[in-house]
Amino acid sequence: MSRYLNSRYAEMEAYVPGEQPRDKKYIKLNTNESPFPPSRSVLEAIDRAVIEDLRLYCDPTCRALREKLGEIYSVSPDCVYLAGGSDDILNFAFMAFGEKGSVYPAISYGFYSVFAALHGSAAEEIPLEDDLSIDPSKYYGKNKLVVIANPNAPTGLLLGLDAIEQIVVSNPDGVVVIDEAYIDFGGESALPLIEKYDNLLVVRTYSKSRSMAGARLGFAFGSPELIADLEKLKYSTNPYNVNAMTQAVGLAALCEDDYYMQNCRTIIENREYTATELRRLGFTVTDSKTNFVFAKTDKMSGAELYRRLREEGILVRHFSTPEICEYNRITVGTLDDMKATVSAIKKILELE
Ligand SMILES: *Cc1c(COP(=O)(O)O)cnc(C)c1O
Repeated sequence: MSRYLNSRYAEMEAYVPGEQPRDKKYIKLNTNESPFPPSRSVLEAIDRAVIEDLRLYCDPTCRALREKLGEIYSVSPDCVYLAGGSDDILNFAFMAFGEKGSVYPAISYGFYSVFAALHGSAAEEIPLEDDLSIDPSKYYGKNKLVVIANPNAPTGLLLGLDAIEQIVVSNPDGVVVIDEAYIDFGGESALPLIEKYDNLLVVRTYSKSRSMAGARLGFAFGSPELIADLEKLKYSTNPYNVNAMTQAVGLAALCEDDYYMQNCRTIIENREYTATELRRLGFTVTDSKTNFVFAKTDKMSGAELYRRLREEGILVRHFSTPEICEYNRITVGTLDDMKATVSAIKKILELE
């Protein structure tokens, strides 16, 4: 740190992304990417014309993408906001709506506490229940920025739409952000509620279910007024926040949406296979509705299992937070990836 850094940021802890190691080839199950490539339409979208157009600034309104998303999700394009990954949207949500403070689960996506600190939003972190679930009633009447990942990460547990609606209804003077990074893997989206409630922002990403983590594309749905607030911050920082290539591939992907939704079904099958196999080996496995399983065994510590899997060429994610340090988060890959993972675990634990 230099002595020039704004003192506001001196004590702040930055987010630590999952590893992207280059030392050897791993079965990479640590950052919840899709094992499937982008669709053919995406490969074809980066053509000469798009490259030649890089000379020009891209469309700051992302008009084509907003219209297509509006069509697919049956909302008006002025209820859609786009950004370079959903992290950017969450950042803006804390910046725009966190003035009176923010509240989110103590165990959730690690970026929430970083954004709260970054924007000086007084954070209230609500512990999970003993079974790692979220008790919605603990979020009633806060009337500040409420942020819930649904399904939650890294527990994988889903709240029903009724529970989400109750949180939204009971916080009329605060914005409720529902981070639906994993909703395509078996959850019910809160999107239909945006017509009824002007304090609801639903945040989505291309990174998980649409095989495009590296393209950096996220989108959000909310009332036109909430969207206008986010636009205002965008035009005050980087109007061209979604580059031309990303806009092109984002649009192309939506033209082959069936491909991605089929991949989600395959991942759900592979998830259930993995959960069943791990339970058979005595693991405690949460009822994940995401593209990862969250599992622990009493035969070995979470940290040790992480390390031993890594030696076997399988990379998973371990969190050292005390409440969940016995668990590992294992991204669901192809069936072959998951079979290899289960075999490696049997070998490590000397089972069968
Ligand atoms: C992966 C993830 C994100 C970030 O997605 P990007 O669009 O890649 O920035 C946001 N929220 C949760 C809960 C996630 O797991």
